Amino acid sequence: RGRWRRAAEVVREFEEGCATPVARLRQVVDAMVVEMHAGLASDGGSKLKMLLTFVDSLPDGTEEGTYYALDLGGTNFRVLRVQLGGKGSLILNHQVERQPIPHELMTSSSENLFDFIALTLKRFVEKEDGSQHHSDDERALGFTFSFPVRQTSVASGVLIKWTKGFSIEDTVGKDVAQCLEEAMTKRGLNMRVAALVNDTVGTLALGHYYDEDAVAAVVIGTGSNACYVERTDAIIKCQGLTNSGSMVVNMEWGNFWSSHLPRTSYDIALDDESPNPNDQGFEKMISGMYLGDVARRVLQRMAQESDIFGDTPQNLNVPFSLRTPLMAAMHTDDSADLREVKTILQEYLHISDVPLKTRRLVVKVCDIITRRAARLAAAGIVSILKKIGRDGRTKGKPRRTVVAIEGPLYSSYAIFRDYLNETLVELLSEEVAQNVILKVCEDGSGLGAALLAAAHSVDR
Ligand code: ADP
Repeated sequence: RGRWRRAAEVVREFEEGCATPVARLRQVVDAMVVEMHAGLASDGGSKLKMLLTFVDSLPDGTEEGTYYALDLGGTNFRVLRVQLGGKGSLILNHQVERQPIPHELMTSSSENLFDFIALTLKRFVEKEDGSQHHSDDERALGFTFSFPVRQTSVASGVLIKWTKGFSIEDTVGKDVAQCLEEAMTKRGLNMRVAALVNDTVGTLALGHYYDEDAVAAVVIGTGSNACYVERTDAIIKCQGLTNSGSMVVNMEWGNFWSSHLPRTSYDIALDDESPNPNDQGFEKMISGMYLGDVARRVLQRMAQESDIFGDTPQNLNVPFSLRTPLMAAMHTDDSADLREVKTILQEYLHISDVPLKTRRLVVKVCDIITRRAARLAAAGIVSILKKIGRDGRTKGKPRRTVVAIEGPLYSSYAIFRDYLNETLVELLSEEVAQNVILKVCEDGSGLGAALLAAAHSVDR
C-alpha cells in the first residue's frame, strides 16, 4: 500500500509541475507578445523566427482551374488534386492520397527524400489526370513544406533546420522548391512550384477562402505552429518588401520559449534525448509527436518508484512506445471499468493485471499532460489576438475573428479541444471569446497550398 502511495505521489508532483493557472498563462501570453515584437524587428532577434511568407493576399473564392498540392509535414505525406470552380462555386472536387513517410527517408539524403516525393506525385498525377491533360502544359503545384524556411519569394525558400524527427544534413541551406523541381524533372513530371508554403499558411488560405474574417491559423499535429496576417509596417525587418499593406507571418511558434512555461524533469529528459535538444520547446509541450512520450516517462517513473505495474515492464523504457493517439484513447475511455486503458497498457506496454485504481491513475497522467498542452496552445492563440488587437482590449465594437485550426489534437481529441476552448474563455472573457471562432479546416494545409498556387499562377 505504501508503494501505491509513492506512485500517487509521483503523479501529484507531476501535476504540480504542470500547473497552468490563469495568472501564469497571462505571463506566457505577455512573453510571447514580447517575442513576436522582437522576431519582427530583426532576424535572429528572438527564438520566434516570425518568418516572412511573401503571401500578401489570401484566396477569396474567385480562383479557378485544376491545381495540385503536395504536403510534407511530419507523419504523413499527402498529394492532392483540386478543382476550383471560380466565383460562387468554390471547391468542386478534390482527391487526396495519404501515405506515411518511410521512416528511413527521414534521415537519409535530400535526393532520396525528394525523389520519393516526386515519384509518388507522378504516380498520382498519372492516375488522376488520365488523358485529360496535354503533356506539354505545365501544371502548377502548391508545395506545403512544414519546416522553418527562409523564403526568398512566395515560391522559393531555403531550409533553416529540420524538426519533428527529420534530420537530413544536406537539405539545410538549400532551396526546397528547387530540390523538388529538380526531382520532378528527373522523373519527367512537367510541374512548377507556384507556391511554397508552411502548413499553417495553407490552413489560413483555406480558412480565408471560406471566411474572409480569418486572420490566423494554428496547426497542432505532429508538431505545432501558427501564422497570422500582420500589418507590413509592423514587420520592421522587411520594410519595402511588399506592395500590399499586410503579409502573412509564419511564427514558428513551436520554438517559443519562456521561463514562465511549466516545465518538468520529464520535459527536460525528453528534450535531452531528442534529435533537436534546446529547440522547439513549446512544440514539445503541446504536439502529437511528444505528448504520448511524456506520459510514458511519467509511467516509467511510477514503475521505478513502486510496484504498481508489477516488475518494471520493459516496454516502458522504449521511447515512443506510447503514441499520442493511444494516450488519447486511454484518456477518452468512458467505460466504468476503464477497459480500453487495460487493453492498451497490456498490448502496447505489456503491463497486465492493473486494478481499476491504478488505471485511474494512468488516466490522470494523460489528463495532466493534455490539459497543460491545450491550455498552453490557447495562450498562444491569445498572444496572436493580443498582438493584432483582437483580444477585446481595443475600444469599439468587437470584431468577428476567425482562427483556422488544423490537426488531430484539436479535431479528433475532444478533451483537448474542450480544454482549449475553455481556456480561451478564461483568458478572453465570455464576451470577447464569443467573437473568436476557431474553425476546423480539415486538410487545410494541402488544399490551401493548391489555392495559393492558383492565386499565384501567372495564367490567372
Ligand atoms: P502531420 O502533422 O504530420 O501533418 P497529422 O496532422 O495527421 O500529421 O498529425 C499526426 C499527429 O497527430 C501524430 O503525431 C499523432 O500522434 C497525432 N494524432 C493523430 N490522431 C490523434 C488522436 N486521435 N488523438 C490525439 N493525437 C492524434
